[in-house]
Amino acid sequence: MKHTAMTILYEVYDNLYINLTNKCPCACTFCLRQTRDEMDASGTLWLTHEPSYAEVIAELEKRDMDKYKEIVFCGFGEPTEALDVLLSVARFAKETYHKPLRVNTNGLGSLVNGRNIAPLFEGLIDTVSISLNTPNADRYHELVRSRFGERSFDAMLEFATESRKYVPSVVMTTVDTTLTKEEEEQCRALCERLNVTYRIRPWED
Ligand code: SF4
Repeated sequence: MKHTAMTILYEVYDNLYINLTNKCPCACTFCLRQTRDEMDASGTLWLTHEPSYAEVIAELEKRDMDKYKEIVFCGFGEPTEALDVLLSVARFAKETYHKPLRVNTNGLGSLVNGRNIAPLFEGLIDTVSISLNTPNADRYHELVRSRFGERSFDAMLEFATESRKYVPSVVMTTVDTTLTKEEEEQCRALCERLNVTYRIRPWED
């Protein structure tokens, strides 16, 4: 059983998280991947391989899904790097469990996939939570170190705008204590302009 140590699903508070990939176009200076090798007691979030649709479904079917409020695509990596599995698992979860579905993303999924992916979330994903991180492109680039370079910040904002057309709730987040109050106000103003919700999240979220 070579895959037993691999964590595809994990719990955070009342929610069930799905860890699809360790790939990410970014190398954030603060990334938990660089400081911790696991996020919960059940095992490592480093994947020995990316789980297939069938593997994720098999794991879901072992769970008592009534326990969870929300199903969240998140993990040690960017979930839209595994877009096909994400979409097919989301479709299954929507039809089977009738739970709200969220994608936690760096907002660069359209760059990763080479096309606008927001329309694919229509009728499927209830919340997109995008890591805004900073109020401006320069700081963003320093922190996030995206392999797509300086166009990443604008691409992330564009993804938020696009997601608003297809997803009921679009949230942009920064991490508590990482910004000045003034920077947080700039983020708030930016989110108001984009007509998305601004949320300052705790470190461990
Ligand atoms: S976007 Fe997320 S997974 Fe990717 S490097 Fe940054 S914090 Fe880590």
